[in-house]
Amino acid sequence: MSWQVLRTLVHQGWWVIHHPFERQDPRYWRVQLMQSLLLILQVYSGAFVLLNLTLFGYFDMAIANLCVFAAILAIQVDLRKNLNLDRSAIALTGTIVVFLGIYLAIAQGRNYSFIWLSLVPTISFFLLGIRRGLYVSVLFLTASIVFIVVFSSGWPSYELNIPSYFNIALSLFALLTISRHYEKSRTEAFAFLAKRNQELEILAVTDPLTQLFNRSHLDAMLEIELQRAKRDKTDLSVLIIDADQFKTLNDSYGHVVGDEVLVELSSLLQSCARATDVLGRWGGEEFLIIAPKTGEDGAVELAEKIRVAVGRHRFTDEDLHLTLSIGSATLSPTDTQISIIQRADDGLYQAKHDGRNCTRLGKSTA
Ligand code: GH3
Ligand code: MG
Ligand code: MG
Repeated sequence: MSWQVLRTLVHQGWWVIHHPFERQDPRYWRVQLMQSLLLILQVYSGAFVLLNLTLFGYFDMAIANLCVFAAILAIQVDLRKNLNLDRSAIALTGTIVVFLGIYLAIAQGRNYSFIWLSLVPTISFFLLGIRRGLYVSVLFLTASIVFIVVFSSGWPSYELNIPSYFNIALSLFALLTISRHYEKSRTEAFAFLAKRNQELEILAVTDPLTQLFNRSHLDAMLEIELQRAKRDKTDLSVLIIDADQFKTLNDSYGHVVGDEVLVELSSLLQSCARATDVLGRWGGEEFLIIAPKTGEDGAVELAEKIRVAVGRHRFTDEDLHLTLSIGSATLSPTDTQISIIQRADDGLYQAKHDGRNCTRLGKSTA
């Protein structure tokens, strides 16, 4: 049998529960766990019906195993048909707990049967959640201990035999399977959350149209750069860049073309700025550049480089012209975030006043 055929069999067997849940949905892992548990229990109880009837000669246990087999089959059919996870989880835990109780009572300590108790918390927590899992575990384990204390005095001591090896090996295998499943679902959930967190972090600082930083991130970055420049006693300049007559452009070519121009303009600005500059969309057709270690001359030089580059550029398929007015301000010792922006804005106002398509400095009063 080829590997491919084996894979197809594994993924299309009667035990496969088809469901619409995505991997990041906790319900996905719940169904997967139930699917595995149902299969394991089905194989286990089926095999033990035969083993108890033939090899071991425990007829009472064979009947109990047959009941489990039937119950598991019913739960499997119900889960596949109705996908009622809560009902199936309760039925499955109930079946396991009731069967285990009967088994432990009949076995009376024979064949290391109590080792199966170790599976109760693991299974009930995974299937029923923390609260109900805790109730079931505490109730069942307490009842088991009381049962052992009350009845065990008359039990003979047993040696390790073949059924004991089965019990030890199978219970440990079950523990291993469930623990692996748990770790896998936990790791996937963490990886998904980490990825989603990263996406959200990027989304929170990004302007959706231009993919540049947004206003709130610019505010935060300006405060950081301001503090850094004051502490290190280095220069810092701020440029406010405004597209000229953008309303007219929108009116003539439509908003969609206007949007395209803004996106193209963003790329141009990006290519003119240094990697250490912080560039973002200040709002509408206005952009802000925070230029660390840049004095008044450097800021004007950067502004003119941008203005000339944009003036020469032909935007979109429409071969559009666009000019920019730029206001610049350089940090003075008394500046706050508000005052440096205010001065850059004053510069911009002056540039507009002077006929647009030019750069003006917002003069410091200090
Ligand atoms: P000025 O030279 O004085 O700056 O003139 P202006 O028309 O550029 O300035 P005004 O403030 O009168 O208008 C700004 C225009 O920018 C109006 C608005 O429709 C446009 N605008 C703002 N945000 C967007 C946007 O995201 N997409 C598009 N297409 N247009 C925008
Ligand atoms: Mg404007
Ligand atoms: Mg404008």
